[in-house]
Parts: sequence; C-alpha cells; structure tokens
Amino acid sequence: MRYALVTGGSRGIGRAVCMKLSQEGIPVIVNYTSNEEKARETMDMIVSGGGRAELMRFDVSDVDAVDAALGEWEASHPDDYIGILVNNAGIRRDNLLVFMQNEQWHSVLDTTLGGFFNVTRRVIKNMITGRWGRIVNISSLSGLKGLPGQCNYSAAKAGLIGATKALAQEVAPRKVTVNCVAPGFISTDMTKDLDEKELKKMIPAGRFGRPEEVAAAVAFLVSDDAAYITGQTISVNGGIY
Ligand code: NDP
Repeated sequence: MRYALVTGGSRGIGRAVCMKLSQEGIPVIVNYTSNEEKARETMDMIVSGGGRAELMRFDVSDVDAVDAALGEWEASHPDDYIGILVNNAGIRRDNLLVFMQNEQWHSVLDTTLGGFFNVTRRVIKNMITGRWGRIVNISSLSGLKGLPGQCNYSAAKAGLIGATKALAQEVAPRKVTVNCVAPGFISTDMTKDLDEKELKKMIPAGRFGRPEEVAAAVAFLVSDDAAYITGQTISVNGGIY
C-alpha cells in the first residue's frame, strides 16, 4: 500500500492537504512537531470521513528524529511504502536583515531546507526502487519574489525551488516527480498576525487564499494525470506577480 506523508500536517495548509489526499483514497501519515492536539484533530477528521490516517511526530530539522520515526514506521509496515511526500512543514521568523539574529536565520533554513533534505533523502529510496513517487515541496511567493523582512524565509523557499529542479532531473527516469507549490497569502495561523485588510489591496483576486485552494494544486501534482509534470513551481496566489 502506498502512503502519503505530509510534514506539518496538523494545522493550516498541511491539514487541508491531508484531508484532500485522504478524500482521494490515499492513507495519510500526519506529521507534526509539538501540537499533538491539532494533529489528533486532523487524524480524527480523516477517520470520521472514512479515510485512513496515522500520526508521526518528529521535528523535520532533526535528522536523527526523522530517521528514527521513519525507521520505526518502515519496520511496522513491511508491505507498505511512502509513495507521496509533501514537504510542508515551515516557520516564519521575520526581521530586517540588519537586525536578524543567528537563531532567526538558522531556524528557518534548518526547518525548510534542512527538513526537505532530512525527510526526502530518507523517503526517496523506496520511491526509486518502487519506480513510482510524488514529491511536492511547499515553497512560497516569498521565494519567487523576495519579501522585505524575510531574507531568511525567501532564501529558504527559493532554495527549495532550486533543489526541486535538481532532484526532478535526478529521479525522472524512475517515474518520480518533484514539484513545488508556491502559495501567496493563505489564511492560517502563520498569517494571522498580518494586516489582511492592507495586504489584500496588492492581491488581484482581492482576498487571502484558503488552505483548501493550495491542497487542490498538491492533489493534482500527486495524481497520475500529472505524471509528465516535474521540476515545476505552481503559484497559488490570487494573481500576484
Ligand atoms: P502553520 O503555521 O499554520 O502550520 C505549520 C505546520 O508546520 C504545523 O503543522 C507545525 O506543526 C508544522 N511544523 C513547524 N515546524 C516544524 C518542524 N520543525 N517539524 C515538523 N513540523 C513542523 O503554517 P501554514 O499552514 O500557513 O504553512 C504551511 C507551509 O506553507 C509552510 O511551509 C509555509 O512556509 C508555507 N506557506 C504558507 C503561506 C501562508 O500564507 N500561510 C504562504 C506561503 C507558503 P505543529 O502543529 O506541531 O506546530
């Protein structure tokens, strides 16, 4: 059986992705790092909708924790493999570069880029041997455009786009695709401190997006219909360029 692993699946965009994939009949592993209550809520929502879900706690930036959790899962699922990986876990630690603290720089890079490396390297082996796989990395408008106050976040999200293009070429012969989805402003915990009224003036669609609108793009990229799309970045941002 092929499973989907969604990092940061407890809340926000990750939760919407878990829900959408489970509605497509895919068993989902909901990863989280600290918010067990929200992770359980996601799992319960999936199960009450008739889907299959498991929780998996690890910090994506902690390579030993990633290896331990995935090793344990593989040992208890000898006939299954993770065929779909959505690298969604991410954090913001905004500051102007001149004031940016070491911790603000490193924590964002370690979570987004380190997390991509730690989890993908581990999971991709079985996709290669299974000769089928889908990896979707959640980048950002900030990684495409650069946003002031987010040198750390823009660097990490742009780095993810570069890694996506490189890896896509490495694994295309094995029928593994690697793509990015780059959301704009989406209503989640991550954006609740932003001035929506002011910011939506710069969004042609005139509103923040919903997590489900990002999840729809992810679901398309992991479908068989998207088998010939790889190394790409799809923006889900209401028309910002
Ligand atoms: P939220 O803050 O709502 O949720 C973040 C999720 O990531 C939570 O599930 C959290 O787990 C998890 N997480 C954070 N750090 C780690 C870690 N080290 N290891 C494992 N899990 C972790 O964020 P969003 O849903 O808004 O964002 C999801 C992704 O989309 C992020 O990568 C973000 O950068 C990106 N994005 C979001 C945009 C937006 O406007 N919201 C715009 C563009 C991109 P826990 O619940 O345990 O804390």
